[in-house]
Amino acid sequence: MAELLCTDLRQVVRELQHSRNGVTVITEDGCVYEANYVILSVSIGVLKSDLISFRPFLPRWKMEAIETCDVMVYTKIFLKFPHKFWPCGPGKEFFIYAHERRGYYTFWQHMENAFPGSNILVVTLTNGESKRVEAQSDEETLKEAMGVLRDMFGPNIPNATEILVPRWWNNRFQRGSYSNYPIISNHQMFQNIKAPVGRIFFTGEHTSERFSGYVHGGYLAGIDTSKALLEEIWKERKIESQNHLLEPLLALTGSLTLTQTEAVSSLHKCDIPTRLYLSGKLGLPEAIL
Ligand SMILES: Cc1cc2nc3c(=O)[nH]c(=O)nc-3n(C[C@H](O)[C@H](O)[C@H](O)COP(=O)(O)OP(=O)(O)OC[C@H]3O[C@@H](n4cnc5c(N)ncnc54)[C@H](O)[C@@H]3O)c2cc1C
Repeated sequence: MAELLCTDLRQVVRELQHSRNGVTVITEDGCVYEANYVILSVSIGVLKSDLISFRPFLPRWKMEAIETCDVMVYTKIFLKFPHKFWPCGPGKEFFIYAHERRGYYTFWQHMENAFPGSNILVVTLTNGESKRVEAQSDEETLKEAMGVLRDMFGPNIPNATEILVPRWWNNRFQRGSYSNYPIISNHQMFQNIKAPVGRIFFTGEHTSERFSGYVHGGYLAGIDTSKALLEEIWKERKIESQNHLLEPLLALTGSLTLTQTEAVSSLHKCDIPTRLYLSGKLGLPEAIL
């Protein structure tokens, strides 16, 4: 795992093969990495997509939780102009456009406070409108936005000279902007989204019950998940070392058959994540495996 973390950035993960003994990570360019554990921090949108295959498949409780959590698409479109034509100064930063179509270029903001002299306007679109605009050309979007601005400021305003339309929905590494838990979601759903599956641990803003959707949610979830994983590794090592001491003694006494000794071995090698998880020692109160 250390090798994967330290030296192999910018790889696209396409498959995770997991077993009781470890995880094999296969990347788009065909590289194969072996790891004892994996922390998967891709977005909820990516988890919903087919970018990463799991072998074997994720269990049903996990898939259901991932499917139930919605993805929000949040698009800030940037327009650069040759000069300002909007109101600036103290207390003026946002303006709103009302249109019969809900969410049609509604929220506008100028960048003069943050970047004086940049002559940039930002318009925010969400969900349905985001997806619609992502599917069309930037020229079409520019035409629509200019139509809205001329509606508000009159026909003589200049055309924007540049436009930037982020495509978070179509970006295969994002598939949306952030998680949006449905109102009916409960504690169990959060637990299921963040719960590890065998040796695969999950993290990211969508695994933060308090701060899902935010950068600090992602940050805090990362700390929690790392702690849970370290705790598990530590417990596994402790049991392994105990077992190394125990096995020769058991062999000497001859009190165990070979099958029984193997059973002890396989317990500490294979079932530790599940057992710790079931016992609630990973900070996850309920057993859901
Ligand atoms: C327009 C917009 C505005 C926002 N505004 C705010 C704000 O004001 N305040 C705020 O707190 N939050 C805001 N957010 C949300 C914030 O950006 C997210 O909550 C945060 O980025 C989540 O971090 P994360 O690490 O969980 O996931 P991500 O940032 O999605 O990181 C996941 C990483 O995994 C990589 N990845 C995905 N698939 C693969 C793969 N198969 N192989 C390898 N790598 C892969 C991705 O490239 C990405 O780098 C905004 C988001 C958007 C889109």
